[in-house]
Amino acid sequence: MAIVRSAAWNDVSNALETEGKFGSLCANGEKRMASSAAVIGGGIAGLSAGIALRKAGFGVTLFEQAEDIRPMGAALSIWGNAMAGLDWLGCGNAVRAKAAGVERLALRDVQGRDLFGPVDLSGSDSWLPLRTDLQAILLERLGAGNVRLGVAVGRAQEEGGRVALAARDGTLLGDFDLLIVADGIHSDIATSLLGNPPVYRGYGGVLNLVDAAPQATGHGEEIWGEGDRFGLFDAGGSGYWFYMATGTQAGIAALDHAELLRRSHSFPERIREAVAASDPAALITIPIHARPMPKSFGRGRVICIGDAAHAMEPNQGQGACQGIEDAWALGILAGRLPPDRILPEFDRLRLKRVARIHRDSATMGAIAHGRPWLRRGVSAIFRAVPKRVDAWQIRQRPAPPDYR
Ligand SMILES: Cc1cc2nc3c(=O)[nH]c(=O)nc-3n(C[C@H](O)[C@H](O)[C@H](O)COP(=O)(O)OP(=O)(O)OC[C@H]3O[C@@H](n4cnc5c(N)ncnc54)[C@H](O)[C@@H]3O)c2cc1C
Repeated sequence: MAIVRSAAWNDVSNALETEGKFGSLCANGEKRMASSAAVIGGGIAGLSAGIALRKAGFGVTLFEQAEDIRPMGAALSIWGNAMAGLDWLGCGNAVRAKAAGVERLALRDVQGRDLFGPVDLSGSDSWLPLRTDLQAILLERLGAGNVRLGVAVGRAQEEGGRVALAARDGTLLGDFDLLIVADGIHSDIATSLLGNPPVYRGYGGVLNLVDAAPQATGHGEEIWGEGDRFGLFDAGGSGYWFYMATGTQAGIAALDHAELLRRSHSFPERIREAVAASDPAALITIPIHARPMPKSFGRGRVICIGDAAHAMEPNQGQGACQGIEDAWALGILAGRLPPDRILPEFDRLRLKRVARIHRDSATMGAIAHGRPWLRRGVSAIFRAVPKRVDAWQIRQRPAPPDYR
């Protein structure tokens, strides 16, 4: 018997165990579907996994603690590798129809010197959807009838070939053939199962969407200062910007509109415009955490995906993309294997690939927010690299995996 325990809910777990309620749920289960799966979390990874498992023939119940499917953040880049996954899920064209295409990408310093690119991304199937749009498309595809909102899962227990779930308030939620843990970076269940709690990476920032379009159509850029950086993307007639700075979590939490305006002074006009046009009340502040890569993504019939499993620093724009790839792999395997044999194959397909992207994201974070001499040295190397090499490098971005 494998017990998966949410540390924050040990009290609930103990009470259930003492009274034997959790065991009786398994014993007294009502008539069950041949293959059923529970998904915890209605973010991009959880919604994608729900669709993938339905496609594989599972009956799916997705539990989301919020009262509605709410996106975290503003917009995000979805690269070609994840678009292939969205195509497999049947959502690719809906995303293309709503999102802005990413056609040109550049990395510069505050002096205006090119560090990387600009590179031409047209034809790379790279998009910048608003998070609300992406989640709405996924939810529609999954079917709202498969989602239970306002339910915070607190505990899971695998016994007798089933995984039983209880809410944080102790309510029993049912038992399933498979459990997918997709409840994000602060997942207690993933921490207790994988042993890789999130670690603060020494920087964080603020992001926002503005109605004005301070960036040319299809263009995205990042501009590096001394230990801080702004990013600005065309989001289809509006603008998506982010700011990242080295600092403590308290320092990041204290970043307000006035401070951002002050810090944007050494950056180009279009950045200052974007910050100035932002609604101070709508700024989203995010301290950057990552979960160390685990040795396996789960145990038995419990599989962790997305940020719950492998939250990475955002520097490759691949966190959600990898959640989508997780779902794709899961769907393929669930269509072929019994629930108790999915995990080893999932690990085989996913561990190495995700680890490489996770490591590349951390390396970029260490350059941008680590020691000044490292940043200056690497920036000088970046500047010396011919643009045609940059163009070649961008094509080495993760290609779509082959999960047929
Ligand atoms: C600044 C920044 C920029 C980024 N940019 C990009 C980008 O450009 N491209 C990209 O691919 N990725 C990007 N990412 C990463 C991306 O945001 C994440 O990887 C992705 O959103 C994680 O999705 P998820 O579904 O795993 O988790 P989440 O989005 O965190 O969803 C988890 C869900 O689980 C729910 N939940 C939590 N606990 C429970 C519970 N006990 N019971 C029930 N429900 C629960 C939550 O309410 C939430 O809805 C960026 C991240 C940051 C911080």
